[in-house]
Amino acid sequence: MRDFVYNAHPARVIFGSGTLTRLPEEIERLGLSRVLVVATPEQDADARRIKDRIGERAAGIFAGARMHTPTDVTAKAMEVVTAERIDGLVAVGGGSTTGLAKAIALRTDLPQIVAPTTYAGSEMTPILGETENGRKVTKSDPRILPEVVIYDVDLTLTLPVAMSVTSGMNAIAHAVEALYAREANPIVSMMAERAIAAIAAALPIIHDRPDDRDARSEALFGAWLCGVCLGSVGMALHHKICHTLGGTYNLPHAETHTAVLPHALAYNADAAPETMQALRRALSTEDPAGTLFDLSRTLGATMALERLGLPERAVDEVPDLILANPYWNPAALDRYALRRLVANAFSGHRPS
Ligand code: NAD
Repeated sequence: MRDFVYNAHPARVIFGSGTLTRLPEEIERLGLSRVLVVATPEQDADARRIKDRIGERAAGIFAGARMHTPTDVTAKAMEVVTAERIDGLVAVGGGSTTGLAKAIALRTDLPQIVAPTTYAGSEMTPILGETENGRKVTKSDPRILPEVVIYDVDLTLTLPVAMSVTSGMNAIAHAVEALYAREANPIVSMMAERAIAAIAAALPIIHDRPDDRDARSEALFGAWLCGVCLGSVGMALHHKICHTLGGTYNLPHAETHTAVLPHALAYNADAAPETMQALRRALSTEDPAGTLFDLSRTLGATMALERLGLPERAVDEVPDLILANPYWNPAALDRYALRRLVANAFSGHRPS
């Protein structure tokens, strides 16, 4: 075995079905008396139910979270935090909601309790991507990491099938890149392989029966591990491409990850033989990149970036943007090969 460094982040995790009933006792355990419930406008009704459940220790709701954590939204939330003398945060939602709680925590160091409702995994990372004047800046800080995560499988039963598929693929992408990361280590790789197997097996069942609690449990458990992978080691080409597509062309987060992943994996396959072995085991296939493409497409995901709104000029622009400020990557970054990758993902061709 090679030498390695493993950085664990502190986390208190409560996992199961109906676990959100434990929220009041977690609020009490942290000694909080004026918490703010954070959500997106679409999950405002959930936030209200949760505020009622918390009772007198809930001081307000801010249901204005938006994708990519715009700083003007955070500024509005901060006004509520100050006016209501908030002493803790409860975030119920996907990565956008968690992002807002993290942005407030970065500014105030308030404790956060996060109840994820997608598979994005942000709750397990000390990372925050904030957008100001159309530019996304990523920060890492111990204050950003939530204190408590309550995974309640029941909260994911309402996640629409299409979003479940792309959010699940977004999670798998964290684990795939963790397997071939520069800082890869046996602990994270063990989680990554287990997580990929769990999510890949769960998604077809969720597609057919969205309220199947066992499949939802496996997917959420996998998403948790994928979040740990994302927060523990550096990401590579796949995440660089997706950050570029999200930041520069405003493409939707999980859908973009889904369309790019098979191509980024195919690009790195020859340079990452151990990763390919782990993926063959996890996905029971000889062709992991093709299998991920087929799985996503069969479950209804859009595999052409063109159909997600990417302009054709991006096929030439994206390789330059990647090469201008590259992430470490197992395979060498070559403009011609990158252009072919982006062109294939643009058209939605199966990687070969
Ligand atoms: P999202 O949080 O934007 O959610 C998408 C939509 O689905 C929202 O309208 C939301 O209200 C709704 N929704 C969420 N869960 C639902 C449920 N169970 N039932 C019904 N509707 C539900 O999407 P996301 O993909 O989870 O998060 C994307 C954002 O998270 C991006 O901004 C991305 O950059 C960020 N992110 C950050 C990290 C990190 O470590 N910093 C990691 C992953 C993602």
